[in-house]
This record gives sequence, structure tokens and C-alpha cells, in this order.
Amino acid sequence: MISEVENNLYRITLPMPFRLRHVHVYALVDGQDVALFDTGMIMPGAFERMDSDFKSIGLSVESIRDIYLTHVHTDHCGMAGVIQEKSKAKIHLTGVAHQIHAHFQDADNLIAQARMFYARHGMSGPDVEAIVEEIEDMRSRIPGFTVHSFLQENEIRRFGGRSFEVIFTPGHAAGHVCFFFRDEGVLLAGDHILPYIAPSLSPNIHDEDFQPLGSYLESLDLIEGLPITTLHPGHGNAFSGIDERIREIRAHHTIKKQALHKSIGREPRTTYNICAGIIGAAAANWDDWEKFMALNETYVYLQALKKDGAIQENVSAGVIHYTSTG
Ligand SMILES: [Zn+2]
Repeated sequence: MISEVENNLYRITLPMPFRLRHVHVYALVDGQDVALFDTGMIMPGAFERMDSDFKSIGLSVESIRDIYLTHVHTDHCGMAGVIQEKSKAKIHLTGVAHQIHAHFQDADNLIAQARMFYARHGMSGPDVEAIVEEIEDMRSRIPGFTVHSFLQENEIRRFGGRSFEVIFTPGHAAGHVCFFFRDEGVLLAGDHILPYIAPSLSPNIHDEDFQPLGSYLESLDLIEGLPITTLHPGHGNAFSGIDERIREIRAHHTIKKQALHKSIGREPRTTYNICAGIIGAAAANWDDWEKFMALNETYVYLQALKKDGAIQENVSAGVIHYTSTG
């Protein structure tokens, strides 16, 4: 489905096999040329859907000159390679996003890193294998592509007569950016701020110094300071009243972090044990993806609590354990 959401800015809604069931990409049109923001996911019929949507407004996938990526999650960058092959489009993303994308192209290394990371956080046997399978699946959905340029913080990019700013918003993913059309007050937010759910946060397994929650909250502050009229997200409807949504998301994280803090006592436990304790009996109904996301979320809050000095980390036999300092 395609609709013009701002003057010469179109939203195309593409299918996704899981969770939110759809993802939006945005197309800035200048005559016969298109700049595409995110690409949607590789899955049967998605490319054809995009092409026929473009044809309904007198364009095609081949009209795409530039592809700007908010981040390199499968649902946002999956089709970049196929579109580039068809259209010769130039692809632009941040240096950090590019590094993550490069890790995804190196299967053996990625899997070895994932095994090590999750084992250190207390997972073993079939649980690690389930995570490896999830990562393999993600990997298969992110084919390679050629990068034309790296996006720089706060730089202004132009396309046709329009200009937009690159706002660095790491958190939901390392290397995430939003694109801000200051003249119109329009923000293409990717997955930084969503209307119905708090965007998930997960570790960068290649960089344990990355603080997902701390970075995410700082990135929210940054967006709060911008004169935004309309926010167009990667999933769900466009909305105004950004400040209220930002307050809700902040409150969500405060509550979840405090709840997690309360569950940590004097007895040393791993991320995995703490997570399993929180999910409890509900785990029986969860699929591997949900467990993977829950473990990642637990990791994210633990890192934030550690940074606050509220919990302490000890490593024994290569496994990390946490205890409360209070
Ligand atoms: Zn995402």
C-alpha cells in the first residue's frame, strides 16, 4: 500500500512475517527520481509489492537513486541489496551500522561471538543453540550490499529541492539514525520512537561498552529538543505530540529497570537466571524469539543498573554473575 503522507513523500507498507506484521518505508520523490528511506524485509512478494506500488504513481524500483538506512535490522535493510542490484542505487548508513552489517556477512565469526557472549551470560546447551538459530535466521535475511557513503552526525543531506538532517539516535540499535526535515517539521524515526510499543533494546554483542538504555535515553532527549510536527515511524501510524510519547517511553523503562533491580539480591545470579526468574512459568508459552528478546532486555537493564552502581558484577569461570549492592 502506498500513500502520500507529506508533499512528495510517500509511505509504502510492506509485509513482515512476524511480530508487528508490517514495516513502512518512505520514498522522497523528485520528478522521476526517488530517495528511499529503509527498504523492508526480504520475503516472498515484498519486492514485487514495492515495485507495483511505485508503478501506481508512475515510477518503479529502478527510479530509486539513493537508499538511506535508519539501522541494519532485517526489516529495515533486508532488501537493500536486491534494490541496489536493480536500480544501482547508492546506499548510505552510519559507520557503526556498516560495521554491524559487516559482522552479519561473516557467519562463522558472528556465531562464535554470539556463543561466547550468551555463554558468559549464563546460557548453555539447547538455549544457546536456539539463539544461534535465531541469529542464523536474521543473517539469512540480510544479504550484502555496497555502501556509497557514511552518514555523519548532524550533517545535512539534499535530494532534489529538499534537505534533511541526519540525527544520530543509537539505542534501539547501535548506529541508528533518524532523518529530520526541519523545514517541514517531519521526522522519519525508523524504530527510535514507535506509537504503540517501546522499541526493543538489545546488546551489541561485538561491543560490550555500548550501553543500549543509556544511549537510547540520551537519543530521546535529543529528539525532544527538535521542533517536530509529525513523526513517521517504521511501524504503526504517524503521530504528533512527540513529547508525551517520549515521557511514556521513559516511564516504561524506569518502571522495568526498578522491577528488575528489586529482583536482584545477595545471591549471585547470571543474566540468564535473572531473566528466567522474571519470566517464570510464562516461559512455557514463549517461543525462542520471545525468550531471546527477554534475555536481551534483561541484559540491557542489568548494564544500566551496573552503571548506576546499583548492582555489582563478578566473573567466575568465565560466567558473569550479578548481586545487589544495596
Ligand atoms: Zn529495528
